[in-house]
Amino acid sequence: MYQDDYKHKGMRRSLVRILVQKGIYDERVLQAIQQVPRHFFFEKAFLEQAYQDKAFPIGEGQTISQPYTVAFQSQLLEVKPGEKVLEIGTGSGYQCCVLLELGARVYTIEYIRKLHEKARRMLPEMGYNAIFVHGDGSRGLPSYAPYDKIIVTAGAPFVPNDLLRQLAVGGKLVIPVGDDQQQKMLRLTKKDESTIVKEEYDFFSFVKLRGSQGWDAKDHRNL
Ligand code: SAM
Repeated sequence: MYQDDYKHKGMRRSLVRILVQKGIYDERVLQAIQQVPRHFFFEKAFLEQAYQDKAFPIGEGQTISQPYTVAFQSQLLEVKPGEKVLEIGTGSGYQCCVLLELGARVYTIEYIRKLHEKARRMLPEMGYNAIFVHGDGSRGLPSYAPYDKIIVTAGAPFVPNDLLRQLAVGGKLVIPVGDDQQQKMLRLTKKDESTIVKEEYDFFSFVKLRGSQGWDAKDHRNL
């Protein structure tokens, strides 16, 4: 049903070269991008777009993230094989595939039922297996916590405390935080139960993180 031949692999090699030019240096992340057939997430007519470094609509007002953004967040996450990773915002499932290629055990949660169902059906067909959950990921996924890594792929107004609580000691949370136009990429490392170290990176532009600890929260507290 899905075809991935030398032409697609060549297109991915070009994409990887662009990511290197833009500053992605983690060889394992670049290798993961080289492996995942991003065109499977696109209609046949949009093959060229699949390997441009651009976000693209996936329906329901949502997007498959730009490859650079996926690579940047994956690089910050420093995933090691066997680690337990929570992804908030399954979307198309592309970032999930990259995390799986990095050897993670992935729990991925999506707010929009249609997108959740599509990814839950499609990824196993592609040979990618994760735990797919439908729900509000702004509160994390407490039933499977703690996580070695948490990645948020929608723009948050603040860092939800629940996510920090569900992080293992030594774990990292990568989350874009800001207003509805642009968000600063943050990496928070839980040094011990009461110490969080925050690092700040570039600005990005994500769709909104919905939910009770996202843009639907009553008060937007900043960390
Ligand atoms: N990781 C995705 C990919 O690889 O295609 C990127 C998806 S898109 C940029 C962000 C996704 O986050 C959307 O599918 C959106 O519905 C989802 N989302 C927004 N708020 C959410 C929430 N509170 N819980 C779970 N998913 C959420």
